[in-house]
Amino acid sequence: MKDNTQFIFNYLQELYKDASCELQYNSSYELLVAVILSAQCTDRRVNIITPELFKKYPTPKLLASANLEELEKLIWSCGLYKSKAKNLISCANSLMDNFNGEVPNNLKDLVTLAGVGRKTANVVYSVAFGGQAIAVDTHVLRVSNRLGLANSNNPTVVEKTLMQLFDKNDWTKLHYMLVLFGRYNCTAKKPKCEHCKLKNICIYYKKM
Ligand code: SF4
Repeated sequence: MKDNTQFIFNYLQELYKDASCELQYNSSYELLVAVILSAQCTDRRVNIITPELFKKYPTPKLLASANLEELEKLIWSCGLYKSKAKNLISCANSLMDNFNGEVPNNLKDLVTLAGVGRKTANVVYSVAFGGQAIAVDTHVLRVSNRLGLANSNNPTVVEKTLMQLFDKNDWTKLHYMLVLFGRYNCTAKKPKCEHCKLKNICIYYKKM
């Protein structure tokens, strides 16, 4: 397994050496908002929405007192807009009430924010604060299972499994490489197996 793990990591590096966050942001607050919006939505769509959103609500204080309907209108195109609008306002209130309007720089505090799950917290912790974390989104979950790196549909279980398999210094990089590999190569429907160098070790491919 260790050999396969290294082989997979090397191949992902070959494809996505410079993998990084595709969301556009200028502060930890903006990143947090963008990551909340990105649930079940493409980064490209979020990047279309956020410039106007950040202009109207440039601080947690302004977002905390946003009118729900006005906020919904700004973000409707990213899907799940009703729950996301409520989450954004609740999250901004958490920032104001508990963290002096600042985004906390550690996982323990990030997961206490309203509307922030483990995946969102991991992304903010790693991207905004340079921490090492493996956020398990739909792509990381699918690819990890297909390759036999993990065997679970539970994101937290998969996160822990990957953390044990890979060096801590590589966690954030691994997350982004798996995201991009899942987004562009090992897609949910019709993965591009023909050109994939992982065919020989891929459980999913062997079962096809
Ligand atoms: S062989 Fe196909 S299913 Fe397996 S990792 Fe490659 S693209 Fe994904």
